[in-house]
Amino acid sequence: MIKAAAFFALLSQSSPAAAFTSAPTTASRIRATSTIPSSLGASAAFSNEDLETAFFSIDIEASGSIPKASFADALADLGVVIDDSAADALFDKYDADRGGSIDLDEFKQLMSDPAMSGIKPQRDVKFAMDLFKKYDEDGSGSIDKGEFRAVANEIQADARRRSLISVAAAAIGATIVADYSQEYQWAQKNFRSLYIEPLAEETQNKAFPTALLSGDLDQAIAKTLGARGFTPANTIFAHSVCSDEVNNKDEQLVALMVNRWQEGFSLGGLAGLPFAGKSGFRAFLHHVPDEGKLLVCFAPHVGIDAAGKVGALQRDGQTKVSKACGAAVGAYGVISSKGAATSKPSGGNDDTDLFDPQLNTIVNLLEPRLGGIEKAVDPISFVTYQMYAIVRDLIDECVEGTPDVWDFANEVSIIGGIMINRYKGGDFFQPLSFETRVKDGSSKGKVIDLYDEAFGNKPDLVGVLGSEEAVANLYDRSKRAKL
Ligand SMILES: [Zn+2]
Repeated sequence: MIKAAAFFALLSQSSPAAAFTSAPTTASRIRATSTIPSSLGASAAFSNEDLETAFFSIDIEASGSIPKASFADALADLGVVIDDSAADALFDKYDADRGGSIDLDEFKQLMSDPAMSGIKPQRDVKFAMDLFKKYDEDGSGSIDKGEFRAVANEIQADARRRSLISVAAAAIGATIVADYSQEYQWAQKNFRSLYIEPLAEETQNKAFPTALLSGDLDQAIAKTLGARGFTPANTIFAHSVCSDEVNNKDEQLVALMVNRWQEGFSLGGLAGLPFAGKSGFRAFLHHVPDEGKLLVCFAPHVGIDAAGKVGALQRDGQTKVSKACGAAVGAYGVISSKGAATSKPSGGNDDTDLFDPQLNTIVNLLEPRLGGIEKAVDPISFVTYQMYAIVRDLIDECVEGTPDVWDFANEVSIIGGIMINRYKGGDFFQPLSFETRVKDGSSKGKVIDLYDEAFGNKPDLVGVLGSEEAVANLYDRSKRAKL
């Protein structure tokens, strides 16, 4: 059983009691004084909630009061530097009942003293408080799980993403969510603001403006297709994503969708191109339940590192940042060096080694799509969007180049976008297309666009791609890439 106060304290454990931080202007910070200002200021700019947060963060033991002995330290943790005799004087002034400890009401009074100006609540503790309120729905003020210290210790540490989240989920999520996968999604959503990388988040918001967490995407697809009669029993799922292990982690999109649809045929090779080809697609097709449905999810991928660089990624167990997608970035490198006056020699371990059939294919398909790249916000984002178009075209080729698809299936649903790999805070997916094709006697089938229903408006990509023309080219399906 854990009380609210302990919960807040634990969540802010990495800097105990640092519920408040000093305001940006040090001028407003109170220096050590030997006397206490005698005039009480007007009520300070703290909300009741701010005051409770601060109190709870100091009162680590959840005793309901702060003893005189630890008062000076508590003030120091709030960013108020004050000498011991002044702290004692301040304490005595507000210890109305002379009990030797300050309770919440007395603390609220104290915080309105001018000596307390210039400090403000720390966001994380506010967040924890909100989280607790949400959890503590019956208002009992306690949570019957004792693992919060472990959560607190791990939550701000640079821990492996999955273990961190699962500890958090075990501590908080267990009683309000149904299964492990949901626990993970729930905890990820609720905790990510505590440990995300702000520069990566900022870059993602610009380059992939309507990206969704993998779990949200999986749910949006399931909801839309569920309404169309897709069930795990009548549907067979295939994915075309890059071979890179970063795309095959537990709780990321492929694993979530395989778990939901109960199997997953792998069509993808490097950069997510469906190198399994028409033969691979036909094999997949032959496994569909009678008069059943096909579901295909395709996506190139791209990493964003902590510095907000697109095309780079920290990986578990590595201190160095590596490329993601290595194949797409490598192909772009080959094309760039071709145009340079001195071409780069390709070495055996180089990503730009052409003695490599999959990479060679990517180079050939990407090269004609690079017009206008100089206007883009960054070249790798532009390249990644082109990779999406290439994979989309090849998937279309697979479906339409397999006319007997309609002998086996009565509906083929295809979702496409870009997977965004993040070291912290979970992977995302920028959806770009979601279509379903219904058997109607033609080889293509009747195409129904499900994007708006599932995801709302399409993202505005003019900023990231650099021009209206580049956006039109991205969505133009008249010049289809072919293997
Ligand atoms: Zn890759």
